[in-house]
Amino acid sequence: MTNDSIPFLPYGRQSVDEADVAAVVEALRSDYLTTGPAVAAFEAKLARAVGAEHAIAVSSGTMALHAAYAAAGIGPGDEVVVPATTFLATANAAVYVGASPVFSDVDPDTGLMSAVHLERRVGKQTRAIVPVHLNGMPCDLQAIATCAERVGAIVIEDAAHALGASYRDRPVGCGAHSRMTVLSFHPVKHITTGEGGAVVTNDEALAKRLRQFRNHGMTHEATAFEEPSPGPWYYEQQSLGHNGRITDIQCALGSSQLDKLAGFIERRRQIAARYDLQLAGLTGIEPVIGTRSDAVSAYHLYAVLIDFEGFGVTRAQVMQRLRERGIGTQVHYIPVPSQPYYRRITAYDAGDYPGAVRYYQRELSLPMYPALSDSDVDRVVRELRVSLGI
Ligand SMILES: *Cc1c(COP(=O)(O)O)cnc(C)c1O
Repeated sequence: MTNDSIPFLPYGRQSVDEADVAAVVEALRSDYLTTGPAVAAFEAKLARAVGAEHAIAVSSGTMALHAAYAAAGIGPGDEVVVPATTFLATANAAVYVGASPVFSDVDPDTGLMSAVHLERRVGKQTRAIVPVHLNGMPCDLQAIATCAERVGAIVIEDAAHALGASYRDRPVGCGAHSRMTVLSFHPVKHITTGEGGAVVTNDEALAKRLRQFRNHGMTHEATAFEEPSPGPWYYEQQSLGHNGRITDIQCALGSSQLDKLAGFIERRRQIAARYDLQLAGLTGIEPVIGTRSDAVSAYHLYAVLIDFEGFGVTRAQVMQRLRERGIGTQVHYIPVPSQPYYRRITAYDAGDYPGAVRYYQRELSLPMYPALSDSDVDRVVRELRVSLGI
């Protein structure tokens, strides 16, 4: 039951304006719908935005993770360490390349990969460590990079939540502490292309492999051929890739969206500050910390940790009550190693991830997107309090 006169507030949504619509229409009227100039233009703009040399845009963030792991040469016998608290794709992509995901516990109050727990999960087989900048807040990249270096692994950042964030005064994606950074352009993320993602890197050889992976592992470049070319039709498949291409239509939208990124982030910051203020002093409701001296969040999600038991309600009841009052919420995330699939293929024990479990039990993501007004935020807090009986 929802009230038709009150607009429904989802937990996240895209911000699309007339400039975006015009950009897409222009792409549709152009000579290329895929693999054309709008893709290259978006990649150049994105690389500049994050301070990286190369950006390779693909069909989704999941495809970007898959491409990154493949380009790094990760395969059977290798381990990829991912946080227990993340979206499924961070781990799934390791399975796609034949590697084994290994889960590392997270801080119970931030949900971020913890360097202390990471130390217990790395070893001789670790090929990559994949920190996830949950909610838009960068992980402790310095500590993670130090750990990776010690065991001879690389760092690949899953920055699906963190386009526009910065760590130690440099943008996430600049590659100061990692070899590659993965982004997603799903509608709930900071900018959207409908579906889409990208890998950014400063490594030219990796960039080449990423481009090849996106296009079935093939090349048309004569200088790169392993065999003599019999004629102008010739192409070579040199590795196993995928159709991971993104369209010019999507990239035209992406470029137009990117123009507005700074404004989007600023509005998200204001919304987070308003929530913080209104929730301050309420016992049993702790906003996940959104500010830190060494990092600036991109405010992807507004996550709060609630003592549901203390309020005498279940999370399901609270979510249901909010939904009835026109407010959408979500839970980010169920610890990935507890998923039935991962219980079957890895030795899961809930006791191994007390941080992830503790974070998960209390987490609720409240509506957060640039078009949310101040009075929308006030309404969310009011209804949350009603649903908790305070
Ligand atoms: C969204 C997301 C992805 C996957 O991105 P898609 O574009 O949806 O495929 C990967 N990791 C994290 C942390 C995400 O939030």
